[in-house]
Amino acid sequence: MDGAGRQLVVSDASPYLVAPEDLGTLLPGEPGFRADQLRDWLYRSPVLTAEEMTNLPASTREAIGASLWPFEVEVDQSADNGRTRKWLFRAPDGAAIETVLMGYRKRTTICISSQVGCAMRCTFCATGQFGFDRHLEAGEIVAQVAYANAFLRRFPISGSPERVTNVVYMGMGEPLANYERVRESLRRLIDVAGLSARSITVSTVGVVPGIRRLADEPWPVYLAVSLHGADDETRSRLVPLNDRYPLEAVIEAAEAYFASKGRRLSIEWTLIDGANDSDDQARRLAAIAKRLRAHVNVIALNPTPLSADRPSDSDRIHGFVETLIANGANATLRETRGQEIDAACGQLRLRSVTE
Ligand code: SAH
Repeated sequence: MDGAGRQLVVSDASPYLVAPEDLGTLLPGEPGFRADQLRDWLYRSPVLTAEEMTNLPASTREAIGASLWPFEVEVDQSADNGRTRKWLFRAPDGAAIETVLMGYRKRTTICISSQVGCAMRCTFCATGQFGFDRHLEAGEIVAQVAYANAFLRRFPISGSPERVTNVVYMGMGEPLANYERVRESLRRLIDVAGLSARSITVSTVGVVPGIRRLADEPWPVYLAVSLHGADDETRSRLVPLNDRYPLEAVIEAAEAYFASKGRRLSIEWTLIDGANDSDDQARRLAAIAKRLRAHVNVIALNPTPLSADRPSDSDRIHGFVETLIANGANATLRETRGQEIDAACGQLRLRSVTE
């Protein structure tokens, strides 16, 4: 972060905001292996406090401890019997970063934010309804995962893996609209923290140039495309970006991604009463899914206050999924987690803005 010779005062900034290769700049006068030790603590076995970095000298721990994390934990809520947890982190500039952790039997999945707010303005998404504030730095993206790992080490979710096993870029923001920082966060998660690319999913509303760039990166991460409409008219009503990158362009970019990575694609589909829940949409979606050999994740809309949209009723939800399957698509209905703490899909950012 500060390349040009000036010695950093350690308490200036969180070490997560420094590239992992440059951590030595935070440890002036210390032998090189200290930077390696610090890097291991930050990325390989994160801890909540610098005090726990037992192999570092006390003076170093103290200096780092002044600002280990690039944010404060403003809200820490749990739901679903402790199996869902939402954090609202607050950066020094006031930016709110929301992160959701979900424990399952064989997976512990973290849903991370890539931007503060979002410029995409999908009509049904709370994040978009409040507009865009700023991009998150790579370090702020990775620190969400590291914080969850540090937290799990002390407070594991019973019956779930005690480390984050899966990372989904499905929190606030459009990851492919923050390409360079998201790319760097992937590099740190995979090459430095040692996560498998196969445990990571980048979800996009359909930023075509971003999908094409991601296809050229070395990591075979999973790609999820949020479709929500199976023709341009339906999709444009829900996803304004469709006017810029229409359905066929998104499908072709996804095809190119599949051709490059061989990773099964996912299509995300939020079911909204009367908007995209007809059997006609299901049939068209099934055709797209088959063409892409993609798996369709259907999720009922989580209502948001600035929109009158409602989820489809339970019969329609099941009817839609049955029509998909009857037309040859692979599809599952996703369970909703964390609704009562506004941690469900599309609800992030609500509380902090409206209160
Ligand atoms: N911008 C990216 C990632 C963030 S949104 C994307 O669009 O994919 C993550 C997922 O939550 C997307 O599939 C999005 O369409 C969905 N979503 C947004 N608001 C929702 C809501 N209110 N109810 C259910 N799903 C929602």
